[in-house]
Amino acid sequence: MTHDPNCIFCKIVQGQIPSKKVHEDEHIYAFHDIHPWAPVHFLLIPKLHIPSFAQLGPEHVTLMGHMMTMAPKLALQEGCNPYPQGGFRIVSNNGAEGGQEVQHLHVHVMGGPRPWLRG
Ligand code: AMP
Ligand code: ZN
Repeated sequence: MTHDPNCIFCKIVQGQIPSKKVHEDEHIYAFHDIHPWAPVHFLLIPKLHIPSFAQLGPEHVTLMGHMMTMAPKLALQEGCNPYPQGGFRIVSNNGAEGGQEVQHLHVHVMGGPRPWLRG
């Protein structure tokens, strides 16, 4: 399954639900979180519907390598201050006990001057 018609992040990728886009390429999509915890807070997702990190396999190595290496570039683009005085936080919630609410693999990228609302 490349996308799940009931998944809100798949709908965002397909433009069926509006989002504030941070980045898009063939394989990944990034957009602002609607409830930001920090001055910079965006979500980075594969376009492919993968429910969480728990479903990752060897076929996803290139995709996840691309996604994770884009995170610091996009953090700077969105206004995070440079490492090490600045920096950013990457968080991923997986499964019920991991606090995951949306069942499409995503990482939160947060940064900017403290204090933050949460995190
Ligand atoms: P979690 O699955 O726990 O990592 O949380 C999902 C995150 O998605 C939360 O931080 C929500 O604020 C965010 N979120 C949910 N719906 C949308 C949406 N339509 N646009 C942007 N962010 C969203
Ligand atoms: Zn999805």
